[in-house]
Amino acid sequence: MCNRKYIAVSAPDLSASERTALLNAFDSSWISSKGSFVTQFEEEFASFVGTRHAISCTNGTSALHLALLSLGISAGDEVIIPDLTYIATANAVRYVDAEPVFADCDPHTWNVNPASVRRMLSPRTKAIVGVHLLGVPANASALRAIADETGCALVEDAAETPGAKWEGIGVGSWGDVGTFSFYGNKMITTGEGGAVCTNNDALANRLRKLRGQAADPHRHYWFDEVGYNYRMTNLACAIGVAQLARYPEIAEKRRAVRSWYEESFAEARLRATLQQCPPQAYPAWWMIGTELDSMPPADREATRRILEARRIETRPFFSAISSLPIYKGCRTDEGCPIAQHLGRNGVMLPTHSKLGRDDVHRIVVDLAAALKETVQTR
Ligand SMILES: *Cc1c(COP(=O)(O)O)cnc(C)c1O
Repeated sequence: MCNRKYIAVSAPDLSASERTALLNAFDSSWISSKGSFVTQFEEEFASFVGTRHAISCTNGTSALHLALLSLGISAGDEVIIPDLTYIATANAVRYVDAEPVFADCDPHTWNVNPASVRRMLSPRTKAIVGVHLLGVPANASALRAIADETGCALVEDAAETPGAKWEGIGVGSWGDVGTFSFYGNKMITTGEGGAVCTNNDALANRLRKLRGQAADPHRHYWFDEVGYNYRMTNLACAIGVAQLARYPEIAEKRRAVRSWYEESFAEARLRATLQQCPPQAYPAWWMIGTELDSMPPADREATRRILEARRIETRPFFSAISSLPIYKGCRTDEGCPIAQHLGRNGVMLPTHSKLGRDDVHRIVVDLAAALKETVQTR
């Protein structure tokens, strides 16, 4: 067993072109946050998403922080976010001293349920952050409609799904602002990095200003408000330019991985299901998740340990944010039972472009065996 190939849960897909671009940036000596790759990456990423502007920044978390700052969200405001998301979505709300309010998700797509968002609206709601989870776009048109009806801002946290589309339109372009992450395990990576996209010229100017210490563009060392240093480096943007050019190839490989999971799941008749992708959605498969069939909490960890012993790395789902002590006491949609359930029963399976069909088959066969074993020893 121990000489089997180790299957990691994720792996970046880096080629000679990323290396060449990085060395070009290095050799130019423009290694900090000025340089031609920064502009090139921002222009190409904006056109990839389908927005007028893309503002690069240090990571997906600072992208969310900048987004909320640019929209003027502050103390006393409520921001509705899904309960099932990565912690950064909630933390960014706290960075601007606003209060996160948790909406529940859909049991099949695992994305935020627009009806739940509606139930959580209050006179203090200033923004909705829709998250496109794991690979499947959230219902962006429904979230857009709620924002338009109520006058709230819509932010899309598209960290996990660059290149995905809802009703044929790119995610990150439905919101007033859309945010992205280029962390090492994301669809495309620059090591660390992020971007904020918008069609609104005034917001784009705010975002650029806040990213660069809020410096006055016409007067050296003059600042009329508190800003941030959230700039991305030319080195990272060089990698980004090369990764973006390879996006179609990377996304295609991940699409194949998803189809092999579907195939193997069907063959194995597992007591586990995959995330569903509605017909309006064109996905970008970041992580293939599976919902184990209502297991006691200990069983998921037992299942994951068995897989680890068989040299297959997995991750549990994000814990529902409202279950974390630091977010106790926030308003939720009746405790967000679906997000809580998924947070306890979900497992993220290896997903990256280096996996072959045999690897995926082996993962699913071993998952089936692990599930049997955990049920028997219960
Ligand atoms: C990864 C991620 C982020 C944060 O991105 P970083 O680059 O790690 O700061 C934010 N939101 C979601 C949904 C993510 O998956």
